[in-house]
Amino acid sequence: MNISKTLMTALLLGATGLIACQNNTKSPNDMGKKKEIIEIDSDEVLSAKVLTAEQQAKLTPDTVLNILKKGNEDFVADALTIRNTSTRIREAALGQYPKAVILSCLDSRIPVEDVFHRGIGDLFVARVAGNIVNEDILGSLEYACKVSGSKVIVVLGHEHCGAIKSAIDDVKLGNITALLSKIRPVINADTPFEGEKTSKNKTYVDHICLENVKLSIHTIREKSPILKEMETKGEIKIVGGIYKMETGKVEFFELL
Ligand SMILES: [Zn+2]
Repeated sequence: MNISKTLMTALLLGATGLIACQNNTKSPNDMGKKKEIIEIDSDEVLSAKVLTAEQQAKLTPDTVLNILKKGNEDFVADALTIRNTSTRIREAALGQYPKAVILSCLDSRIPVEDVFHRGIGDLFVARVAGNIVNEDILGSLEYACKVSGSKVIVVLGHEHCGAIKSAIDDVKLGNITALLSKIRPVINADTPFEGEKTSKNKTYVDHICLENVKLSIHTIREKSPILKEMETKGEIKIVGGIYKMETGKVEFFELL
């Protein structure tokens, strides 16, 4: 146990360092901050069992965020554990106490549970094209955190997002028009960008993708007093992430 705990801590520190290197949108408050050493019981991380209410209550938002970062390191390293899925199905039938809720795009190339090395009963996942926020998504996030005790919200955008490209192209088609209208404010805001502002320019698509994740975080804070209060009290963390298509790496960032 002690050996595995030490190993897990070391791995987490390595993961934190890597994330710090790759993160271009790090918040000013994170700059120069000492790396936090959080011991995570590896039995909990790799357990085939679903989380209990008591275990969930002991987790802090920072611990959960580190579990997600470590899980993504496993995914990138192609080191996913073979889980006892049938046992988990039976255990989860009695109730669920997930650690986090992920707001992800619809894209088929992002298997969310695998991306964070999580299994049955570990995560709530809300999926909608362009990882936009509306009333129903807000209700789902509030349920995950306020009712079911999740400690972290991750708004997860990704490279090569079709919804982002379609919004840039101002596509009009059926109900897609209304969905893309949730992304258009980011494009219309005309944030500083040098280069061609078209869907063919990957750098611009990446820029809008990042701004769209930020908009979703702002909208969650603005439209959900419940989640805003939980975040202010330190009961939850709301963070952004960008999924890199060619590596599987999630670049996390905090938006203050
Ligand atoms: Zn997408």
